[in-house]
Amino acid sequence: MLQVKRLPALSDNYIFLLHDPQKNIAAVVDPAEPEPVLDCLTELGAELIAIFNTHHHGDHVGANQALRLKFPQLTVYGGAEDRGRIPGQMVYLQEGDRVSFSDRTAEVFFIPGHTRAHIAYYFPPSSSEETGELFCGDTIFAGGCGRLFEGTPAQMVDSIGKLRQLPDNTRVWCAHEYTLGNLKFAVTVDPDNTDLQNRYHQVQELRSRGEATIPSLLGVEKRTNPFLRWDSEALKKAMGLTEPARVFGKLRGMKDVF
Ligand code: ZN
Ligand code: FE
Repeated sequence: MLQVKRLPALSDNYIFLLHDPQKNIAAVVDPAEPEPVLDCLTELGAELIAIFNTHHHGDHVGANQALRLKFPQLTVYGGAEDRGRIPGQMVYLQEGDRVSFSDRTAEVFFIPGHTRAHIAYYFPPSSSEETGELFCGDTIFAGGCGRLFEGTPAQMVDSIGKLRQLPDNTRVWCAHEYTLGNLKFAVTVDPDNTDLQNRYHQVQELRSRGEATIPSLLGVEKRTNPFLRWDSEALKKAMGLTEPARVFGKLRGMKDVF
């Protein structure tokens, strides 16, 4: 049994808390700050047994040490290439490794680009009633993607390419509420995409009511997120390029100054 709770943190981060109500255990993905996590655990009466970090940035690991002090038995997971950069890290994960929480097992993807060590955790559905859950940090955002701080466009195409192969009904839990700004840019580079226009309007309404836009569905990202569409005719035409890394690089460069 896996329930995912979305906890707003800092100005626009989300911390995701995985909860097994039967066993009263919990894990968190990218705890930016301790308070929202501790409040939620108190409310649930659950014990925190794991921290799953996607990368080393402060807004993703900020609560690691405080949470370890409160729950000395917990395990801190992160990418192998992040050794020395994630506070309290105990497990060094590589592509294809598996980690479990409760009765679910996640597959680890090595997805450099935003940082050189970034990883994602994918929990496939274990029955037909369940959805897959993808925790992708700052790599795919709803309607966008993370900035390339330590990687190249070619690496990011490779990394997003791996995630893009997952099933359409996978829920995408990205770490920031950036969707509205991302879609505002997206409609300028993919103006004839009606799925994108519809999504933009839906997200404008959600945000005007102060509601979250996360999680999204991977199938929606495939149809409307320009950063998953480097090989579509529309994006190739808009960028005036065909080679995937060049289409992607130009798009990312435009978004950086949008
Ligand atoms: Zn980051
Ligand atoms: Fe971040």
